Amino acid sequence: MFKTNSFRGGTHPPEDKSRTEHLPIENVPIPEKILIPLQQHIGAPAEPVVEKGAGVKTGQVIAKSNGFISIPAHATCSGTVTAVDLFTHPLGNRMLAIEIENDGKDEWEQKQSRALSIRSLKKDEMLKRIQEAGIAGMGGAAFPTHVKLSPPEDKPVDIILLNGAECEPCLTADHRLMLEQPDLIIQGMRIMMKILGVKTGIIGIERNKPDAIDTITERVRKVKSIRVLPLKVKYPQGAEKQLIKAATGREVPCGGLPMDVGCLVHNVGTALAVAEAVSVKKPLIERIVTVTGNGIAKPKNCRVRIGTSFRHIIEFCGGYTANASKLISGGPMMGIAQVTDAVPVIKGTSGILVLDRKQAFLRKENPCIGCARCVDVCPMNLVPNRIAAFVEYQKIDKARRLGLIDCIECGSCSYICPAKRNLVHYIKLGKAVWNKTQKKAQ
Ligand code: SF4
Ligand code: SF4
Repeated sequence: MFKTNSFRGGTHPPEDKSRTEHLPIENVPIPEKILIPLQQHIGAPAEPVVEKGAGVKTGQVIAKSNGFISIPAHATCSGTVTAVDLFTHPLGNRMLAIEIENDGKDEWEQKQSRALSIRSLKKDEMLKRIQEAGIAGMGGAAFPTHVKLSPPEDKPVDIILLNGAECEPCLTADHRLMLEQPDLIIQGMRIMMKILGVKTGIIGIERNKPDAIDTITERVRKVKSIRVLPLKVKYPQGAEKQLIKAATGREVPCGGLPMDVGCLVHNVGTALAVAEAVSVKKPLIERIVTVTGNGIAKPKNCRVRIGTSFRHIIEFCGGYTANASKLISGGPMMGIAQVTDAVPVIKGTSGILVLDRKQAFLRKENPCIGCARCVDVCPMNLVPNRIAAFVEYQKIDKARRLGLIDCIECGSCSYICPAKRNLVHYIKLGKAVWNKTQKKAQ
């Protein structure tokens, strides 16, 4: 029925998942202080509705959504607001956040309602619950889920893809979630299919997770509209456009969106959050994070409250090893280096990676030797060496004409480059400069 093509380009970095792939998820105790950034999603930041000194309960809205492309933020513990101020964000800059001192009671604002059958709910009510729960894509992109589930009428969607590829090396959070909570993931997918009136659901899982493939396949055996698609192990198999190409043979045009080819892609963690929001009105206050790398004493898969500091989670995992050197939010290919472990987990944080000295200082940049390996591996058919060179020499418009904006920042080009050129760094820089000029022009 479907083509099972792969996609052009891509790389095969070491998977490095063995430290945590067999470890069940552990609950991290709620820390003494929680820090909730108001920008955890693409779109307008949430607007605070509490002030310093206010008492809050778990699940209470502490910042309301600010327009359609925005989501609210919730208290993830009960206690007292101790600051509404600028704090260091895991994306690098300082942003407004709400700090809560935990009272140790974890008192919820409202008791979880009884689970509802999705048959009894209308589309609008389900979308409202998803928005009110503050759900943004949990694979990292963090686009508000209710917006993604409201495509314009001229872009009909006929396939929903659930992304269980988890192609980023070292990370195993999605893998464990598929093994430990498969029914909720499938329920979330069925809700999203019902909202869009879609008759076909595909759950893509890389072949290096045979236990997850078996578990989910068994659960959907009697569901005609959903099937599991084992995927080739190749990075970045879990990127939206590459997943769509591999699963359906459809190609999202340059500058286009999955809905342009009738598809929507959601992460398995997002599906689980949707199920909890719609069936029991649970807001998104926690997520699974893989804590791993040679710099971590006891790597684990952790369930943490949003707003918990990296430091607290690392302490739960036995602390740093003696040669710990570099802290990264996310995985080694797409992650973002951190200057402090005081930053909080946000809705899109899938991993905390700590490299040792040997791993952290492998990259000494040399001049490009024109080998074109970066061009061979680019899954977006770009010429990374030339785009990066234009950015380096501040010719941003020329870089844009070569596809700067189409780059999905997968890092395959930097990974493969024998000269250790930090190509994706230049590309990210070029995008930031381009976006700034666009904003100014507007
Ligand atoms: S140019 Fe962008 S999309 Fe292409 S390999 Fe590099 S990071 Fe990935
Ligand atoms: S892979 Fe590195 S050395 Fe080779 S062309 Fe690309 S940037 Fe240059």
